[in-house]
Amino acid sequence: MDQIQAAENGWTYIHKRRIPKQDTGETKQNTFARLKNELAVKIGKFLKTHAEVPVEYIPRIMSVLVRHPNWATKVKNTVGVTILETSGIRMFGLVKSDGTVEEISYRKAIYGEEQSSNARNAMGNTIRHVKLAHLALRKSLGRTTCDCCHQQPGTIVTHNSPSYQYLVEGFLQTFDVSFIKTFVNARGRHQLTDRNLAESWIKYYKDTANFALSCPGCFDKYRFTVQ
Ligand SMILES: [Zn+2]
Repeated sequence: MDQIQAAENGWTYIHKRRIPKQDTGETKQNTFARLKNELAVKIGKFLKTHAEVPVEYIPRIMSVLVRHPNWATKVKNTVGVTILETSGIRMFGLVKSDGTVEEISYRKAIYGEEQSSNARNAMGNTIRHVKLAHLALRKSLGRTTCDCCHQQPGTIVTHNSPSYQYLVEGFLQTFDVSFIKTFVNARGRHQLTDRNLAESWIKYYKDTANFALSCPGCFDKYRFTVQ
């Protein structure tokens, strides 16, 4: 826990130190935004090249993760930080004293709850039609039973493997994306402002996601077993 305590004190120090002293005409707010973006890309690259966290990186990684909006809850029983991998996509995980590992988003830690939620919604809305098309195809083929238990218990949901958050993370790391600009359209839905980014995301999603149908009961079991 000492490392975590040190990390909690470390964030301010790191950022003060990294903000350049010279007057570049950039406002303080813009400088901070730029540093956040640089940090997001840097950590994405770190995850692409590391299957585990080298000991000397732990304080720096933790100093970012402590900014997670739900840190107070996340940190409970945490004894360390590790890297989780699904289908070649990596995320950070907090190791608990009972040996379990809980995923934690460094992007949410950097950009905060609201921005992360807007970005997530916008990205979800961007690929919504891909999922719906898959569901429509399965229905037209009469294959509407759960892929896991092969029952037809009413509500069947379409989802993807790796799980959505891994797909998002994989995409952002692949394209070195930092801050995701969004807007709310006339129907009240968050959308990606950058059309090229949206097209790339749709393509990445189609190429990478494995689609499956499952009943609600099998949902959790399925998302962790399908490869
Ligand atoms: Zn099922």
